[in-house]
Amino acid sequence: METTERQHYWLPVPERIGVRWHRHAFRGKHWDGRPADTSVCGRPCAMARPSELHWFQAPTCRDCTETLLAELSGTRSSEGGR
Ligand SMILES: [Zn+2]
Repeated sequence: METTERQHYWLPVPERIGVRWHRHAFRGKHWDGRPADTSVCGRPCAMARPSELHWFQAPTCRDCTETLLAELSGTRSSEGGR
C-alpha cells in the first residue's frame, strides 16, 4: 500500500524514573534527535537514544498499536466518544 500519509516510527522511550522503557509510536518518518515529543497515544515522552537492549526489552505500547490499527482500518474514533 502506498497511502502512507500518516507516517510513524517506533522508538523506545524511558518512563519518568528512567528504569522502565516502553516502545511508543511517534508521528514522522524517523527520530530526528529531538529531546521530547508526544507519542501517538498522546503521552509526552522524553526521548533518548535507545540501546539495542532497550529495543529488545521495551514492550510495545498497546495504546499506540490500537490507535495506529484503527487508523489503518479507517475506523477513526470520532472526537469525544467511542
Ligand atoms: Zn504509546
